[in-house]
Amino acid sequence: MFAEIKGLNEECGVFAIWGHKDAAHLTYYGLHSLQHRGQEGAGIVVTDGEQLKVHKGLGLVNDVFSPNDFSALSGHGAIGHVRYATAGGGGFANVQPLLFRSQTGSLAIAHNGNLVNANSMKHQLEGQGSIFQSTSDTEVVAHLIKRSGFNKLEDQLRNSLEMLKGAYALAVLNEKQLMVALDPNGLRPLSIGRLGDAYVVASETCAFDLIGATYEREVEPGELIIIDDEGLRSTRFSGSATRAICSMEYVYFARPDSNVDEINVHTARKSLGKQLAIEAPVEADVVTGVPDSSISAAIGYAEQTGIPYELGMIKNRYVGRTFIQPSQELREQGVKMKLSAVRGVVEGKRVVMIDDSIVRGTTSRRIVNMLRDAGAKEVHVRISSPPIKNPCFYGIDTSNSGELIAANHSLEEMREMMGADSLEFLSTEGLKKGIGRSDTTSNCGQCLACFTGEYPTEIYPDTLHPYAKV
Ligand code: SF4
Repeated sequence: MFAEIKGLNEECGVFAIWGHKDAAHLTYYGLHSLQHRGQEGAGIVVTDGEQLKVHKGLGLVNDVFSPNDFSALSGHGAIGHVRYATAGGGGFANVQPLLFRSQTGSLAIAHNGNLVNANSMKHQLEGQGSIFQSTSDTEVVAHLIKRSGFNKLEDQLRNSLEMLKGAYALAVLNEKQLMVALDPNGLRPLSIGRLGDAYVVASETCAFDLIGATYEREVEPGELIIIDDEGLRSTRFSGSATRAICSMEYVYFARPDSNVDEINVHTARKSLGKQLAIEAPVEADVVTGVPDSSISAAIGYAEQTGIPYELGMIKNRYVGRTFIQPSQELREQGVKMKLSAVRGVVEGKRVVMIDDSIVRGTTSRRIVNMLRDAGAKEVHVRISSPPIKNPCFYGIDTSNSGELIAANHSLEEMREMMGADSLEFLSTEGLKKGIGRSDTTSNCGQCLACFTGEYPTEIYPDTLHPYAKV
């Protein structure tokens, strides 16, 4: 859907490659396919074996890179990043990869996720003399590495990872090596692929498809992988914890053509729609989904109920992001410019409108209004995930609890606020069943914290306002 309107934003996407002469170009393409995970900034750091070179900036991948930039980015190893800037966390200084130069060599870091103990670590490090140039929690990792007292990057990084709490899918590059690591709960996705002899790593497998790479496997929770000219080595920095991959990757964030921890996202969403139809059927003439992320669930709902799926809404693909401003008034305008109801489909009909999730509820209200304006006789809202009642501390900006409609209102109040004829959500059990992780993976846990309030990691006092960073 429209992340910037909905108030549910992924923080970042990470891509890395080792052992290819066109490392920077391939990273650029990889970042293109991860663009949905962050649109505020993009960057690439490349190594040619001798030095690290960087190009990054604010904006979309296409805006940040021009063909001329690549002549200065020659090298065989690279990491790249797309970023969604959270409140107080924007600006060029926070665009990743972060690059640090020192007399003993350079270091670049790209991070997807959010460290829950970043503020207390920062406090501690500042007390020991560290000076931070950005407000990003990722910079903490660099300081920990430099202060670890070990000589080899591998040992420095392992030592640092042991101190980090929260969600991190990390790619770290120096002149001679690429390292990738995933937090012990595996909260964010991270996959490894091959492109000929080269190794590639990406937040989502759609990046592999775009560059013609083949999928090899997932990075395991608590695993540190070292890739260099000798090949790939896997080590562990943490014992096994229960995997708690973010459920919202399946519901909303990831692209439908990606496989997240070996489950196809479109298939999972379709099955969530089927599950929703079993739990919350309704008499209607037509099923429609809010484009793009809810279409798979709408197809599943239609298939299960036998009510025809129709394209009741279309998305205007040519609206620039410049129109989207985080003020109430302009958000209203943003929805109208980005979505249109198809009058010929909904007029005089009882419509089931499938949406994947509700954060503030304002977008749903506007969509219900839009369908009614286009002549819908009834609008039944069905949500293919449970109500979001708790904030996320792991890299998803779900606003704070005060803004979450489900945290503050009953089902009936929400229905009334949206102006819908009926409103139902998928149950937590239905979500688990729909995604089907327990059927396909051995380490099959998933994070459900924004629905249940049961967080898979410790939550520190300074994580209570993860996006109110200074
Ligand atoms: S709290 Fe919700 S959005 Fe955050 S990682 Fe867990 S499931 Fe994902």
